[in-house]
Amino acid sequence: MHSIAIDGPSGAGKSTLAKRLADHYGWNYVDTGAVYRAVGLACRRANIDPRDEAAVTGSILPNIEVSLSYAPDGRQITRLNGEDVSSAIRVDEISRYASDASALASVRKFLLDLQRDMAVTHNVVMDGRDIGTVVLPDATVKIFLTAQTETRARRRWLELCQRGEEKTLDDVLSSIRQRDTNDEARANAPLRQADDAVLLDNTDLDEDAAFTAAVKMISEKIKNL
Ligand code: C5P
Repeated sequence: MHSIAIDGPSGAGKSTLAKRLADHYGWNYVDTGAVYRAVGLACRRANIDPRDEAAVTGSILPNIEVSLSYAPDGRQITRLNGEDVSSAIRVDEISRYASDASALASVRKFLLDLQRDMAVTHNVVMDGRDIGTVVLPDATVKIFLTAQTETRARRRWLELCQRGEEKTLDDVLSSIRQRDTNDEARANAPLRQADDAVLLDNTDLDEDAAFTAAVKMISEKIKNL
């Protein structure tokens, strides 16, 4: 099996690139942020502070089942106790819940096998924060995708505007900064470039250019694709 791991900070364009690569190669796209968001949503609904490790570990994790599957059109479906929460997890409030919950060792352990299992029977393009370092340390290709903070915030803000969420660019910028700090500073599986990952900075690249650069990196590692 082949796997392509794409890690990087929030708003770097990981999902856009990963989806496009998955379509291109006919592989499955696995968005691992979705499972952290599902745990975040469970905390929100239960009115539990996602930073409260005892409460999350004792009252949330034993009562939830998170699963990933695919719709006939290839879209990833995220379920929380059987309910399709693919849209509910996308609101900005849940980003913060997911980010806080993702710092907890118990949450990361709870979600690890679910993510690994996705790459056992299918070739995958998987994006997240710790795919190349922890989830798939033997991934065939590892890309660390990044971009300047302001660029990432602007892209994320435009995406939220298109979905009808009323946020200012400043709100989104501070939320991205907060999530960067959380992702980089946490003790468990912090965001970092794996030693064998290639860096792709797309601050000045549009989607097509980033895709072309990634395909080139991949074809250097995997011949005959
Ligand atoms: O990628 P996305 O923004 O949907 O992820 C939501 C949150 O889940 C991130 O802020 C990050 O803290 C966390 N996450 C993680 N490890 C992953 C994927 C996401 O910690 N592999």
